[in-house]
Amino acid sequence: MTSRPMMPGVVVIGAGQAGGRAIEALRGHGFQGPITLIGSEPHLPYERPALSKEMLLDTASETIAWVRPADWYAAENVRLLLGATATSIDRDARAVSLNNGTVVFYDTLILATGASPRALPVPGGDHPRCHTIRTLEDSRSLRTHFVPGARIVVVGAGFIGLEAAAAATSHGCAVTVLEAGSRVMARGVPPRISSLYAALHRSHGVELHFGVGITAITGPENAPVVECADGTSIPADAIVVGIGVVPEDGLAVACGLAVDGGIVVDEHGRTTDPAIYAAGDVTRHYNPLFGLSLRLESWQNAQNQAIAIARNIAGQNIVYAEVPWFWSDQYGVNMQITGLPTPGATTIERGDIDGFNGLLLEMTGNRLVCAIGLNATRDLRFAKQIISLGVDVDPAKLADPGVKLADLLRELKSR
Ligand SMILES: Cc1cc2nc3c(=O)[nH]c(=O)nc-3n(C[C@H](O)[C@H](O)[C@H](O)COP(=O)(O)OP(=O)(O)OC[C@H]3O[C@@H](n4cnc5c(N)ncnc54)[C@H](O)[C@@H]3O)c2cc1C
Repeated sequence: MTSRPMMPGVVVIGAGQAGGRAIEALRGHGFQGPITLIGSEPHLPYERPALSKEMLLDTASETIAWVRPADWYAAENVRLLLGATATSIDRDARAVSLNNGTVVFYDTLILATGASPRALPVPGGDHPRCHTIRTLEDSRSLRTHFVPGARIVVVGAGFIGLEAAAAATSHGCAVTVLEAGSRVMARGVPPRISSLYAALHRSHGVELHFGVGITAITGPENAPVVECADGTSIPADAIVVGIGVVPEDGLAVACGLAVDGGIVVDEHGRTTDPAIYAAGDVTRHYNPLFGLSLRLESWQNAQNQAIAIARNIAGQNIVYAEVPWFWSDQYGVNMQITGLPTPGATTIERGDIDGFNGLLLEMTGNRLVCAIGLNATRDLRFAKQIISLGVDVDPAKLADPGVKLADLLRELKSR
């Protein structure tokens, strides 16, 4: 075994958005020790939202949202071990083993291993024309099928599946979406918004079917067929599988850290081992604003949780406590969701929801708990701040189009 250097510094496993932002913030907040970044993908850290949006819409060119350009890592003296997978963590020796035989020592370890798409759990679920969307390569490979007349079947009517469906229709594909549940985006939005989006997709020619079970994917390599539980067979040119992700927490489980559907971290981003932090999709973190432990799959969480832990490693005492925020772009409509969608909440509408221009607010009692904005970035931002105050709000004022949310926020802050 290689011997332990005097000051191994910080090692980050996972060269995704959280890993990249953690490194950027470590340097930005004065950490001058050695930093090593280990990533399975051959790429420098990049952001993923465009993979199911711009990259599928514009198949002629691509703009990759790199966290930092290559020369930044060299200038900041970050050791890059890309195309290498961490296979185990020895917490006593504070060492990480890689699949290429390398052993990397650490003083502090950051786990930013993200999540992986769930595969279709049926015979033929690994058919070569079944595509998930997580990496640059996934997106590049899928978009080769987005040509006029191509038959695209999307399994799962969540955000990523629907963004892919919207992109495919823009290329003139014939799109069918199969959803096991009874409405679209059911985990993230209330039924009112689901109905609107179902209608929006149908108005663009998407065939949308609910309550559909998939039993198998059959057919030769270049002509898959989706076999459904009701006996229907749907031939396709490509299948997009968007049925959720699973956190990449295997390393943490194997080395004995607490894991509960994600690596358990406190509000400082610390795992149950004080030398190991975690950030991003892989974590289940305690959020003091809501008094709940949450696992989020969102750009904001990947970035800001990573920044918070980096600042803590650099010697600060930062509590990571944010109102969740997420967005989705479909057919030119920008939807933003902030707070925690709460089944059974009372809803209030502001603006023209049917015209995709307004806010739907969810209240439990007199507390605003969630806001969904359709092409309403500015008001959504105010709603997010109102949620973060955690104070009672008069529902009549929220419902009154004459009351500006900016003014209401000011009033609540001055109480
Ligand atoms: C297609 C798509 C669209 C999205 N759109 C939006 C959106 O519109 N809005 C929004 O808020 N969020 C969106 N998200 C979510 C957002 O991109 C994620 O929350 C974010 O990427 C999470 O960052 P992360 O660093 O935690 O994980 P990841 O970005 O998944 O990075 C983890 C990295 O760790 C690597 N890794 C894993 N295990 C190991 C190992 N053992 N050794 C070495 N490396 C390892 C992985 O290969 C990966 O590169 C989208 C995600 C996807 C996939």
